[in-house]
Amino acid sequence: MKKEIILVESRDPAFQDLVLSTPVGEKLATCMQCGICAGSCPVSHEMDYNPRQLVRMVQLGLKNEVLNSNTIWICTSCFSCSVRCPRGIRPTELMETLRPIAIAEGIKNKNERFDGVFSDVVRKNGRASEFLLISKYSLKEPEMIKQAPFGLSLFLKGKLPLAVDKMENTLELDTIFKLGEKVEKKEKENKENKETGMKTEKEEPETDK
Ligand code: SF4
Ligand code: SF4
Repeated sequence: MKKEIILVESRDPAFQDLVLSTPVGEKLATCMQCGICAGSCPVSHEMDYNPRQLVRMVQLGLKNEVLNSNTIWICTSCFSCSVRCPRGIRPTELMETLRPIAIAEGIKNKNERFDGVFSDVVRKNGRASEFLLISKYSLKEPEMIKQAPFGLSLFLKGKLPLAVDKMENTLELDTIFKLGEKVEKKEKENKENKETGMKTEKEEPETDK
């Protein structure tokens, strides 16, 4: 097993303090690295770091690694880890706590492509459809070809219905999406203005009066 060296400069005490000060941070320090959370997680094989590793990384304040990992986005909030943790640590809530921090830091979600397809399907139909999700995502993600035999076996067993269950009126839903887009646009503009302001301040040295 490859050992990774953690450099002191990779640790961010402010990030560590921030997470520890949230409701979920209360018990984080008591994690004994038993791995029950990782063993219970149905999607840990898809994660950059499993829940056990992520808890340890937060304890160490490894901000960049934690916030840039796909783990916080892959988590399906199934709560298996939270109900089984012998120390009462709630990794599910930890993921939910870390997501807005990553967004506020302007870190892009590695699964953006899937999220885009998912929200597109929900916006148009009002409901998620496995068939549409798989087919549309496959067009965007070439790696999905590897899942073709699995998809076919699901289809043959009648577990992948082709019919799309559509909501009668998607107008309200569309309004919610539009509101979200507006907020996102505003936040982006604010961030850009802030960055431009900081740049200009740096570029314009103070002149003697
Ligand atoms: S189950 Fe709880 S104590 Fe065990 S490694 Fe996971 S978070 Fe830590
Ligand atoms: S809540 Fe998330 S991290 Fe916990 S077991 Fe489920 S998918 Fe894994």
